[in-house]
Amino acid sequence: MPSNRAEFPVKVRRIIAERAGYLCSKPDCRKPTFGPGPGPRDAACIGVAAHIYSAAPGGPRGTGHLASERRADVANGIWLCQDHARMVDTNNGDAFPAKLLIQWRSIHESFLHQEMRGIAPPPVGLITEVAVRGGPGDLASRKLSLSMLNLVQGANETGKSMLLDLLASPDAPHYLSGRRWIDGLSAEIRWFDPNPRTLHLEAPAGQMRLISEDRSTPVVSAPYRAIVVRGSQTSLRSHRDLARELGLSEQLFIEVLAQVPQRVRGLVIEVTQQDSVPIVRLDGLPGPLRCDESASFGRMWIVFLECAIALAQMCSDRESTLLLIDEPEAYLHPQIVYRLFHLLGERTSRFQTLVVSHAALPADVRRGWSEFEFKRRPGISESSSLHSQFSDRAR
Ligand SMILES: [Zn+2]
Repeated sequence: MPSNRAEFPVKVRRIIAERAGYLCSKPDCRKPTFGPGPGPRDAACIGVAAHIYSAAPGGPRGTGHLASERRADVANGIWLCQDHARMVDTNNGDAFPAKLLIQWRSIHESFLHQEMRGIAPPPVGLITEVAVRGGPGDLASRKLSLSMLNLVQGANETGKSMLLDLLASPDAPHYLSGRRWIDGLSAEIRWFDPNPRTLHLEAPAGQMRLISEDRSTPVVSAPYRAIVVRGSQTSLRSHRDLARELGLSEQLFIEVLAQVPQRVRGLVIEVTQQDSVPIVRLDGLPGPLRCDESASFGRMWIVFLECAIALAQMCSDRESTLLLIDEPEAYLHPQIVYRLFHLLGERTSRFQTLVVSHAALPADVRRGWSEFEFKRRPGISESSSLHSQFSDRAR
């Protein structure tokens, strides 16, 4: 008799376990589920290939209108320890909707991608989603599920830089306050710390209000540290300007810069000082760069960016950190932009990165990045590319 129960075939169950590294996928659990058993030749397994949408109609979270073969597919599975497999199915899974489980799996896979390259996952949390319900035409109704490396591409004036402002604002409110476009803004930022958290941002009459866990508060302790790399020729003339942009004292900036060659291993290969002005040598570029009023702007941008990477590395040892980079291609030669992308992909350690760009970047530069495209289409929802990204990698 054909059963309507969509059990996972053995092979599918194995892939679900392998994609989770045999660890529980709940971001704050990550318990090993395979290990030594009672005897010297035994192995023990405490892991379960759990269904996101239910194996059978009427089960936890329902079938999501998926046919039974899709409910028996890897895409509908999440590897959990026995305790959490049981927990997510209690009360018909009401407290654990499919969307949340998919998010857990994405976060867990993000962590594993990092760990497979020898990098420990973020110690504190991860910003998982930004959802805009009301805002200026282009930004409205967009929902982005963030992973570790995120690339937002699109033409000018599609709301990309506003997204960057929005993401910077919980840590640095000045990115939003006083902006004309925020009138009517209504957005949510979700993160794990490691419990799921939500911060609402509302600006009913152009006045920004933060609502944390259903309580309106003039001040919220920032859920994460935001480091913004953005600047024009007129705003970035000397190391003092870079220090200001990064929210550092001049002395602290010089200390961070001194660590860049070793920490970032990018284009900045040597830092010295002369009359309290940092002198930087850049790989492949002639002559030292003196970071004062006479500095070349493109080179200052490289120093800015690599300092921001080093600072993000330092901050991420203690707190969730988001590095936000606005249109590097506007200031840097394409070859340098590509090199920096590779650098971020390789060296990004325990912080998240979001780059906003209007240039069409080659596919090999974008590999490993979650991509979001912004178009001039008011009111159209922008969905994440996370799933296609992970399924692409699985192939
Ligand atoms: Zn668990």
